[in-house]
Amino acid sequence: MASKKDYYEVLGVNKGASEQEIKKAYRNLAKKYHPDLNKEPGAEERFKEISEAAEVLLDKDKRAKYDQFGFAAFDNNSFAGSGFQDFGEFFNDMGGFSDIFSSFFGNTNHQGRENRYSRAVKGTDVFLELELTFKELVFGTKKQEKIRVLRTCATCHGTGAKNPDDVVKCTRCHGQGTITEARNLGPLMINQSVTCPDCHGSGKIIKNKCKDCHGHGYLEKSETLDLNIPKGLRPNQQLFLQGSGNASLNGGQNGDVYINISVKKSPSLYLGADDTLHQIYNVSYLDALLNKTVEVATLDGIVKIKLPRGIKNNDVINVKNRGLYVNSSSVRRGDLKLIFNLVIPSSLSTKEKEVLENIDQETDFKPTNKL
Ligand SMILES: [Zn+2]
Ligand SMILES: [Zn+2]
Repeated sequence: MASKKDYYEVLGVNKGASEQEIKKAYRNLAKKYHPDLNKEPGAEERFKEISEAAEVLLDKDKRAKYDQFGFAAFDNNSFAGSGFQDFGEFFNDMGGFSDIFSSFFGNTNHQGRENRYSRAVKGTDVFLELELTFKELVFGTKKQEKIRVLRTCATCHGTGAKNPDDVVKCTRCHGQGTITEARNLGPLMINQSVTCPDCHGSGKIIKNKCKDCHGHGYLEKSETLDLNIPKGLRPNQQLFLQGSGNASLNGGQNGDVYINISVKKSPSLYLGADDTLHQIYNVSYLDALLNKTVEVATLDGIVKIKLPRGIKNNDVINVKNRGLYVNSSSVRRGDLKLIFNLVIPSSLSTKEKEVLENIDQETDFKPTNKL
């Protein structure tokens, strides 16, 4: 980025120029210097300058940054000729100026250009599965989770080179990252822009690679995430940690981390329809017969329940406000459905048998059986 000409100077407009004035100046100069039309030495360089200047000055944010910081606003060679390469493609494909300019000014190809190698691309996202107990699902928890993520190599600061001057411009593509190949399509000869095979699109070649990252510019590292799991989550809900994902490979933002919530199987707890919390409670046949008040261990601790008369297997009691929170920020809770499972002993002592036989003599109880 040495001895660069001021962008306004390149386009021959003054600092207060309107967007229209800049577009007009750019159109005239681009026609004049496009390398397909102008074979004079230096025309290609000039065209690159013009494209780069227009790309900055026609983007409100970039223009503001440039006005404030000058070229320092754009490090990482972020403009490395990408504009030029795209324009070349358009010339070849469309064969006319109107298409080129509508594509450029009409933003139709904007996204495509953003994704070029020379642009800062956000790092990739990392996905985690996190299994919570029912208690953690209801009340939330703090957890530490290890993840493997890509981080910029601290030794070479992401350049991948042993020394900063070991990074040189790729000679095959002249730092463009793409090369133009002629292709026969029937009777037509079409020039196509393809990724440079020498530098794989980076536009750079590393002479001596960094010994720590072997030229990648990044390393895989183990990091610990401190997770604050909120109360009131549901299975398959996702938590999102912005910027904790993989590092960008060219100076962009980190990716994000997505954590998918699931719940550990429990012998007694499960979620029914609408995520209603259910708990199976094994109740003694004697407690049931005698309508005792039983102490049920729930996620909230002991809850005393007066057993209703005539309780049957799979009868359900609604315990108010002991289910899942309505959501993470709510103080309201759903109900807990307590499902009774009557249990009779599999064996009796001699004494028990004697007492029960006495009861049997006393009672007229006979269940009815109909067909
Ligand atoms: Zn390195
Ligand atoms: Zn190359």
